[in-house]
Amino acid sequence: MKFLILLLVILFGVWLWKRSQALKSRPPKVQPAPTDTGPQTMVACLHCHTHLPEEDAVRGVLGVYCSTAHRQAGGDKTPPV
Ligand SMILES: [Zn+2]
Repeated sequence: MKFLILLLVILFGVWLWKRSQALKSRPPKVQPAPTDTGPQTMVACLHCHTHLPEEDAVRGVLGVYCSTAHRQAGGDKTPPV
């Protein structure tokens, strides 16, 4: 039993040593440059009033919608380009 405990202590020491070596050899993490420039503008769907990012909104003549189904349900059409 004494030898088993001694073996476990040695194995734990080897594990700690290997772990510290791996952490030393690892290159420092490079933070990716943030692509987001700031907070997103949120808009509300005219049909169901769900808030969503402006870039994900579906545009109609009367306003913005969360989906084309809600634009059609609201009786709106695709705005002329
Ligand atoms: Zn909606």
